[in-house]
Amino acid sequence: MDKVISNREIKKIDTKKIKTMLDRRKGKMKRFLSYCAHCSLCAESCFLYMKHKKDPQYMPSYKVINSLGKLYRKRGKVDQKALDEMRGIVWRNCVLCSRCYCPIGIHVPNMIAFARAVLRSQEVYPQRNENSSESWL
Ligand code: SF4
Ligand code: SF4
Repeated sequence: MDKVISNREIKKIDTKKIKTMLDRRKGKMKRFLSYCAHCSLCAESCFLYMKHKKDPQYMPSYKVINSLGKLYRKRGKVDQKALDEMRGIVWRNCVLCSRCYCPIGIHVPNMIAFARAVLRSQEVYPQRNENSSESWL
């Protein structure tokens, strides 16, 4: 387990638990990640991408690559900072509406939902944006 400091308290990231979760769905999820051709065809079907003036951070593929993709690339060995960055990606930047369309059948919301489950296993939850009165949800 890695010790990290966040919000003035010491939290432990259970990397073993993360790896166990990732391994359980490894076949399907890694297949999806490797099939993604980074073609961006899914981008304009995401209303959040369009609403944010085509900011690349809201592209469905970007969100998957920088959340679940990162968890697999690091084999679950992530620190609190990485999990906190993913929190915004998987809760603020995606609402799991399933509107995004991938011509080769990659199911983005399914992958984001799985990334959320991994984050929840480490007590990382959606939170109110500290710099705004607006809720993420
Ligand atoms: S998820 Fe599908 S549509 Fe989107 S970039 Fe990857 S391959 Fe292209
Ligand atoms: S599921 Fe997420 S990525 Fe797909 S369209 Fe909805 S908000 Fe966008």
